[in-house]
Amino acid sequence: MELYQELTKDVRFVEGLKSCMNCGVCTAICPAAEFYDYDPRIIAGIVQSKDEKRIEELLKSETIWYCGECMSCKTRCPRGNTPGMIIMALRSLSQELGYFTESEKGRQQLAIKRVVGENIISKGYCVLPENLIPEMHPEQGPVGEWIYDNKEEVYERVGANYNGDGEGALRKIPQESMDEIYRIFEITGGIDRFEKIEYFSKLKAKNMGFTENEDNYADYVSHIFTTNNGKHNRQ
Ligand code: SF4
Ligand code: SF4
Repeated sequence: MELYQELTKDVRFVEGLKSCMNCGVCTAICPAAEFYDYDPRIIAGIVQSKDEKRIEELLKSETIWYCGECMSCKTRCPRGNTPGMIIMALRSLSQELGYFTESEKGRQQLAIKRVVGENIISKGYCVLPENLIPEMHPEQGPVGEWIYDNKEEVYERVGANYNGDGEGALRKIPQESMDEIYRIFEITGGIDRFEKIEYFSKLKAKNMGFTENEDNYADYVSHIFTTNNGKHNRQ
């Protein structure tokens, strides 16, 4: 498969890359580049070179997962490029080919699919209060833990309609709307993409010595959620 040709089928790639002159303005403005070992200018340069080997390395790298998709680069590029959109196309191709399992940050796609993706399909929300389990989110501190333990009362006090019928924040989404959300994912290829992420992740999990359990490779999910090789940040 010609990777560059595949990228050109993605409208985000076509929109995002016109002609990069390697000026580095995108990197200077990029908040991710401030913290991570990450340089959107280099990414634009690699894809523009059409070098298949380097594009494949990019698809298997940690690098493409550092972008926060804030789109600051879109407003600043003097040539009208958007590295953030180039990266969306690269991520999509990496998921499609299973290359995402080759990097630590890429493997986290399974956790995102299982939590955020499945929440959208089953509840209509990206993140649910019941997902903010204190052991998994120590950064929330004791206040976060207290909110988690008292969520019904807390959300009622701030005027939300947690899991209730009718209007209000955190309300239960009617089945009719849920059916529509599912159809959108089905027609746009989201469900197929979810299946691919599961498929390639299972191959990787087996390859890494994890065994399938009743929780569908929960040990692997826990591993990818918590592993940090410490090499992501700028030193
Ligand atoms: S700002 Fe635009 S032209 Fe400059 S390096 Fe980034 S993508 Fe290339
Ligand atoms: S969209 Fe990505 S590459 Fe662009 S500025 Fe934001 S984090 Fe950086």
